[in-house]
Amino acid sequence: MAIRRATKIVATLGPASSDPDMLEQMIRAGVNVVRLNFSHGTAQDHVNRAQLVREAATRAGREVAIMADLQGPKIRVGKFAEGKVVLKAGAGFVLDASRTEPGDVDAVGLDYKSLPREVRAGDTLLLNDGLIVLTVDAIRGDAVHTTVKIGGELSNNKGINKLGGGLTAPALTAKDMDDIRTAMGLKADYVAVSFPKNATDMEMARQLCSVAAADMNHRPGLIAKIERAEAIPKLLEILLASDGIMVARGDLAVEVGNAAVPALQKRMIKLAREHDKVVITATQMMESMITNPVPTRAEVSDVANAVLDGTDAVMLSAETAAGKYPLETVVEMAKICHAAESHEIVNFEADFMGKTFGRIDQSIAMGALFTAYHMGAKAIVALTDSGSTALWMSRHLIQIPIYALTPRVATQRKMALYRNVRPLLMDNNLERDTALVEAETHLKTRNIVQSGDVYAITCGEPMGAPGGTNMLKICRVA
Ligand code: PGA
Ligand code: MN
Repeated sequence: MAIRRATKIVATLGPASSDPDMLEQMIRAGVNVVRLNFSHGTAQDHVNRAQLVREAATRAGREVAIMADLQGPKIRVGKFAEGKVVLKAGAGFVLDASRTEPGDVDAVGLDYKSLPREVRAGDTLLLNDGLIVLTVDAIRGDAVHTTVKIGGELSNNKGINKLGGGLTAPALTAKDMDDIRTAMGLKADYVAVSFPKNATDMEMARQLCSVAAADMNHRPGLIAKIERAEAIPKLLEILLASDGIMVARGDLAVEVGNAAVPALQKRMIKLAREHDKVVITATQMMESMITNPVPTRAEVSDVANAVLDGTDAVMLSAETAAGKYPLETVVEMAKICHAAESHEIVNFEADFMGKTFGRIDQSIAMGALFTAYHMGAKAIVALTDSGSTALWMSRHLIQIPIYALTPRVATQRKMALYRNVRPLLMDNNLERDTALVEAETHLKTRNIVQSGDVYAITCGEPMGAPGGTNMLKICRVA
């Protein structure tokens, strides 16, 4: 039997995980959200992959959300005559926006033409995820003249970041706009926006999603990937314009410096939870498992610490997309989450200090948590249409599982990302007493409650209206 785990796992799909059988096994092992990386592949590839995910999830009998991760602006060097060069520390190197011929060891063209206007002498440029460091000496026309500080191999189309941020490329490119249409066509449950700088970027993405999904009545959750230095001072406004954030440690570390990231991670997770938003911790969590069958001690600690910080989900990138051990990685990650959760610091009363609730549905959700906590309930059940009740409940660490029952498949999938929420589908019966009986049957057949156990359940009357939660019932199983 699968162990009950509160923290969710996001796995990136790629060649290593696109076999239907492998995908099914990974879902059985604990993948809750599958990330489609729109930086690779065609629109049709994503449509096919989404189909694979839905089928594998059905076979495994699990609710799995699909997250479409947009590529965002490409701030990249051009191509090299030989495919790559090796840059030596101390040498000069020119990034030339008007260069049309392939690059060599002295100079290369730029995909991002505005770079020369956005850097100044003394700036530090980081290439290939920060593995190569260049210092800007001078700008001459369209050419950025630099000295190599840290050398290494540089191949075609590697990314460029500026230390401290400041490159103005808009968050949503023409390709992203096309990809949003593809994502809505395949009914992606979440859309992740790369490199947003402010709330406006997120609002624009939301607008594009609603236009693309206008005739489908589909509303994806929007995730802001926090990976630009500029996003940090704007964190709260970006968060409020989104349904959740991703601590995108790969690009973020390059822009703000590695050492600043762990503290930012903690701040982002705390802020997200306080504002009823979800948060995903991403990048290099189990990196060594791309090639090794076991994680390093440091990776185990990293995943466990993200869990203890309160993240909703931990994410796998190349580990599951292109690694040698995609299944083993998920299995290991699930074990680490589970073990860390048993040491979760529950600060229940303190969570509510100075807080008041004006909304009826939110007050019921909090009332259910309080009562369940004080009575030592075995479970909390939320009958929910939009999923908000379950989201509010899940923003507080409490070692009581939350079962969210909904008649809406889209809500069920969206809730797959919420920490400590097990989303279940229930019949679309609008009669309250029938729904309550069905809920208890769910708990009993899953052995969550036995005779004599207490659980708390919330629902709304009339049933089936979003935002209508107005009742709390405390039940003792006969
Ligand atoms: P990416 O985003 O994998 O799409 O670059 C995550 C990150 O930057 O950490
Ligand atoms: Mn990134």
